[in-house]
Amino acid sequence: MPELPEIVCRAREMAEALPGRKIREIEVRQPKCLNVPVDEFRRALVGASIRGVRHRGKWLVVDTTGGLLLLNLGMGGEILLVRSDALPEKRRVRFAFEDGHSLCVNFWWFGYAHVAPQDRLEEHPMVAQLGPDALEVGLAQFRKLLEGRRGGIKALLLDQSKLAGIGNAYIHDILFRAKLHPLRPIPTLSDEDVKQLHRAIHAELSRSIEKGAASYEVGLDGKPGGFSTADLRVGYREGKPCPECGTTVAKIKTGSTASFICPRCQPLAGARTRRRGGS
Ligand SMILES: [Zn+2]
Repeated sequence: MPELPEIVCRAREMAEALPGRKIREIEVRQPKCLNVPVDEFRRALVGASIRGVRHRGKWLVVDTTGGLLLLNLGMGGEILLVRSDALPEKRRVRFAFEDGHSLCVNFWWFGYAHVAPQDRLEEHPMVAQLGPDALEVGLAQFRKLLEGRRGGIKALLLDQSKLAGIGNAYIHDILFRAKLHPLRPIPTLSDEDVKQLHRAIHAELSRSIEKGAASYEVGLDGKPGGFSTADLRVGYREGKPCPECGTTVAKIKTGSTASFICPRCQPLAGARTRRRGGS
């Protein structure tokens, strides 16, 4: 499933390759991924030119002269920029440009291609439910987000309505870098813990972005990203030594999900466990 690094890399590539291209026609093979009838979707975007591309959480936001095109790959998919005479077989929606190229969007399972009026992105019903972007949230805002919350830290980080963009690929290394157990109750986090965690989110997501994001997703040119499971430090590495202390990485059950941790670096209650405001 694409997470922030993959979406950030896709948005960058699209922002580089697409502006100035004019949409000549749109092929829709999966009308239920649209938020409006096909005719209305076409009316908004055919003839429109692309002005820029950015992201909001896991949504790719394509700014066009006809309004916003919002793409969400769901569990994963490909967005390919190809010549219109060499189309990939698998595609759900295709934007054919006047210059003889096409942007082909394929969802492995299910995704979305929505339109929204310009400057009304935050009113889109699904975008409106998102918390702040995990890469853009500042320390003060992050602290506020944790204030008064019960429950474990992992569940909160994965809750897209609290913080947008982190999923199961990067969560394990983020918690490892912050030296926090996934079930650590939020009220027991010290100021230092929160600071380390905020830093870890940026550092781990950036590490993947610098390598072109996960190798199980491909770029506009169809080439996979450069961040592979070998780049993970504890995530999906049960039985391997912890890169910090050599203790065997464990796979543990945390609620309905599995977590990968170093039992020594990330104790549930340990030396660094101090109650906020305590002592
Ligand atoms: Zn360790």
